[in-house]
Amino acid sequence: GGPRLLYALQNSHGFASVSTVLRKQPIPRLLPSIGTPERKEIDSNISSFFAPEIKLAPSYPGCSEPPGNTLMVDGVAIEPKCRFCYRRNAILGLCREHAKHVNTQVNSVESVDLVRSALAETDKDSGTRVCFGTDATVVAVAPFCNEEHYTAIPIVVSPTDKTESAEDFVKWLRVVLEAWKEHPEGEALHGPIWRIASDGDSIFRLAKFILCMTQEI
Ligand SMILES: [Zn+2]
Repeated sequence: GGPRLLYALQNSHGFASVSTVLRKQPIPRLLPSIGTPERKEIDSNISSFFAPEIKLAPSYPGCSEPPGNTLMVDGVAIEPKCRFCYRRNAILGLCREHAKHVNTQVNSVESVDLVRSALAETDKDSGTRVCFGTDATVVAVAPFCNEEHYTAIPIVVSPTDKTESAEDFVKWLRVVLEAWKEHPEGEALHGPIWRIASDGDSIFRLAKFILCMTQEI
């Protein structure tokens, strides 16, 4: 139904209007990564979703520390197309493996044309080729806690063409773990990461092996 249904209900049943709902109940927005997920994007998502006014920290009576969380990693299919991110004045939707080959900032018609030409590049080994992400890797935090705090909350969404190596995946997954550990609304309020979970995807499995056999998370 969306805003139109709400408008009809506002007139028929006296429901609050969209502007009142948005003013009283801010809806957090997930910032998608433009290239390889960066610390500032992860920090922004932790702030958006885990600030005390958005998500209450779990209570842990009788314990000295908050309960832990699972860091969940999975891929979801996405429509292969570009979009404009007005928050960063940039092009979204390129795969993180190749997005660094172009300037994704939208400064002029020419800058958009350069990205279009790079998408049309057919030489796979060309250092200027980019492609659409066909999958988005989603990293979410889900607490080990009672059902009041059971929801998995995303802190990264990043398009991929699925050519990334496990080693490269581990590099930015380490940044995610570091961000959670150090962000004032991450581990300090909502507890540490106790485990990392993914489906059977071979890259995810190898990445977990590399990560969990070399450092304490
Ligand atoms: Zn690509």
